[in-house]
Amino acid sequence: MGGGWAVSRMRAMNTPTLTPPARLLGEVLRPGDAGYDAARAIWNGAIDRHPAVIARCRNSMEVAAAVRFAAANDLLLAVRGGGHSIPGWSVCEGGLMIDLSPMKAIHVDPVARTASAEPGVLLREYDAATQAHGLASPGGEVSHTGIAGLTLGGGIGWLSRQHGLACDNLVEAEVVLADGRIVTASAHSHPDLFWGLRGGGGNFGVVTRFVFRLHQVAPMMAGFVMHPGAEAGALLRHYQALAATAPRALSLAAALLHAPPAPFVPLALQGQLVATIAACYVGPVAEGEAAVRAVRGFGRPVVDTFAVQPYTAIQRWFDEGVPHGLHYHCRSEWLRPLDGQSVDALVQAARSASSPMSQLLLRHMGGATADLDPEATAFRFRHAEHILTLAAVWQPGDDRAGTHRRWCRDAWASLRGASAGGAYVNQLHDEGQERTREAYGEVTWARLVTLKRRYDPGNLFRMNQNIQPD
Ligand SMILES: Cc1cc2nc3c(=O)[nH]c(=O)nc-3n(C[C@H](O)[C@H](O)[C@H](O)COP(=O)(O)OP(=O)(O)OC[C@H]3O[C@@H](n4cnc5c(N)ncnc54)[C@H](O)[C@@H]3O)c2cc1C
Repeated sequence: MGGGWAVSRMRAMNTPTLTPPARLLGEVLRPGDAGYDAARAIWNGAIDRHPAVIARCRNSMEVAAAVRFAAANDLLLAVRGGGHSIPGWSVCEGGLMIDLSPMKAIHVDPVARTASAEPGVLLREYDAATQAHGLASPGGEVSHTGIAGLTLGGGIGWLSRQHGLACDNLVEAEVVLADGRIVTASAHSHPDLFWGLRGGGGNFGVVTRFVFRLHQVAPMMAGFVMHPGAEAGALLRHYQALAATAPRALSLAAALLHAPPAPFVPLALQGQLVATIAACYVGPVAEGEAAVRAVRGFGRPVVDTFAVQPYTAIQRWFDEGVPHGLHYHCRSEWLRPLDGQSVDALVQAARSASSPMSQLLLRHMGGATADLDPEATAFRFRHAEHILTLAAVWQPGDDRAGTHRRWCRDAWASLRGASAGGAYVNQLHDEGQERTREAYGEVTWARLVTLKRRYDPGNLFRMNQNIQPD
């Protein structure tokens, strides 16, 4: 593949000045170049890092050359897919940032029911391409998230109870390894690597092409109800009761937040604490109408948006609630079924939020996400009832950033007693090696370390929830 030539060319260059050849690495940006600041900006506006070089790669050969360049020059390496890493793993201070966002190709095969997508693809682009054929595969819930990081850490969304995690639907991946080789990982080719890619994050290489299994997904009954914050405890108990008996086609989420100034929110409620349950029924509309009746019929909701909606519309519900550029600090936990104590802790956390933009989100797990054996993929914790996400959110320039972060950590600590164990790597902050290890559990961790030693013994890929090889 000509990579050896590329390395020797690069070694012959004046590497201390970090002048990589653009024609090998794609578009190369350095501080001061037009487009540099836009390319280093990621979703979380609290992250402000300055790579020495950004390589905006267009294909796997350019990615391989960039990986070799980083390795040969002992550079800190960051890999950016959709740029939604909450702690900001996709951009480094100094070093080389591989920006995959120019890699946007998507190919849908409606007969084989597969889609191949490059790593710069965002969920909304992927969903639009697959839904054009009436098909879809599970993603996350915010359509500006990248498919790459989301899939490599797991990928939980509206379709997951019916069709599994994003990574459960991965059938093949093209990967650039730490030595610059390009390999295919699947059940038949490098099966050990394929196991690790499904939950192990970006620890083993740069994925330059994902191939997913697709499912038929037609417009469905979906929406959410909103209740005043005073009813938050009662609504969460109702959410738990619904979750306990939900058929796998019924996907449920709940949130405690301050109501946005959106046209569908009554003026009197805007800016006030509210509680919501969102649901969608991944199946026939008539069945869905019956299934969501119990969601809509509880108390007297002040907002009810339920209607038959295409999947692409559902995927955009929350986009504006978590825009690019605000400052974010998150904690998350797998939870057991909610009991009186955890409901009280959730409500207390919402009431004590230091910023009106902060949010508590719960998503019901189970169904197909729990079908696989915990050993089947590096994503292990499949038995949890819910995933809890605590997001502290504030405006740039707010001088209470420390207070908002502290609220997030304290709220998380108050809910640790309800933990189902482990953690979700896609929603960890920069919480240290022990917490990453806890996220996987001892058995999976040991296997991941062995894999890391095999595929990335020098830990070139370390801007992630890192699995250290030693
Ligand atoms: C607004 C928002 C909503 C979210 N909603 C959900 C949700 O509903 N469900 C859910 O499961 N998660 C959700 N998440 C978490 C999300 O899955 C992770 O943040 C995920 O890592 C984002 O992927 P990305 O490609 O956008 O991020 P990036 O920041 O580009 O990458 C994240 C990590 O993956 C690595 N990486 C990226 N691309 C590649 C690649 N091609 N090869 C190897 N490594 C790579 C990066 O180096 C980094 O370590 C959400 C996050 C945000 C910010």
